[in-house]
Amino acid sequence: AMRFVEEHGPCAPSMGWRAAVKRATEDPQLGLISFFAALIALIVLPFSIYRFTQGQIGVGIIDAVIVMAVSAVGIVAWLPGQTARAGILMAIVTTTSCLVVSLLFARHGLLWSYAVLTTNFLLTSRRMAIIANVTVFAILGSHPQVFTNHVERVVFLSSGLLVTLCAYIFSLQSTRQRQALEHLAIHDPLTQAMNRRAFDIDLATTLQAHQLSQSPCTLAIVDLDHFKSVNDDYGHPSGDLVLKKVAMALRGQAREEFIVARIGGEEFAVVLPESSLEKSVAFAEKLRIAISELEFSLNDEIKQITVSIGAASWLSGMSATGDLMRAADEQLYRAKQGGRN
Ligand code: GH3
Ligand code: MG
Ligand code: MG
Repeated sequence: AMRFVEEHGPCAPSMGWRAAVKRATEDPQLGLISFFAALIALIVLPFSIYRFTQGQIGVGIIDAVIVMAVSAVGIVAWLPGQTARAGILMAIVTTTSCLVVSLLFARHGLLWSYAVLTTNFLLTSRRMAIIANVTVFAILGSHPQVFTNHVERVVFLSSGLLVTLCAYIFSLQSTRQRQALEHLAIHDPLTQAMNRRAFDIDLATTLQAHQLSQSPCTLAIVDLDHFKSVNDDYGHPSGDLVLKKVAMALRGQAREEFIVARIGGEEFAVVLPESSLEKSVAFAEKLRIAISELEFSLNDEIKQITVSIGAASWLSGMSATGDLMRAADEQLYRAKQGGRN
């Protein structure tokens, strides 16, 4: 034990475990599949042992195969980039297991189908879950021996359909809520531009990619000129309107791959990936002219506004996002000193 500690450091074994828990927490789908694999294996394993002790070798083997299959899928989920595929595999394994047990061995296996009809929506896309559930209905519904009479068949199909419908609606709602939350988390509510928090993360990721490829990347900081006087002369709501329109113009001028964010009160940032300083300066000039030509009707007056822009290109050797922000900020300061616009 002492040698292990000397060689690997005191935290080595717990680090692996902690990293795994962190990964499973950050990727809910991975956590879910792992939890499923462990849960199903733990539930089915005692059944398998029980069947063997009762001499029901066939069912015992089937149960053992199910335990092995879900465990294997649980492991596949941890391979890089395989989590979504593992979800589909898990849905296939559990659906097939339920069908095999119901059809070949015990009619009470049918009761598991309610769990499968629901969990399919947690494990895969709604489309895949519907395909899996319809397969369950088709195979069980058309089987001549599973149900003792037609009433039982109809009750099974109707209740199964109801469960499917509820799971579908629940899944749809949670997707929509997640999308709404994601939107709120990364956008500025006034201008709908990316917010500062999301921008910092995006800029760091973009620069990391450029660090690897050694390709150019430019950051432009756009600050409205004398914006305080807009608020003072026309009121805060008018100022808000100007901010919204300027953000819209920024978005309109920027190419699809540009990052446009509101990084301060009346300060925006545009990241131009794969753009040299020359190209970026041309873009900034186009932007400056476009914004200066906007007309705002504020309190029955037509008002125009200008912006000052500071831009800096990322150079290899710049340590982090802070360096690039500082360089662009210095240029913005020069633009302000040099007369704005
Ligand atoms: P400069 O040309 O030097 O940039 O002058 P400025 O007046 O634009 O700069 P300053 O930093 O003095 O003022 C920025 C103003 O922006 C002050 C603040 O009231 C206003 N502001 C910041 N956020 C908002 C907002 O969300 N809505 C409105 N209406 N105004 C805002
Ligand atoms: Mg300003
Ligand atoms: Mg400012």
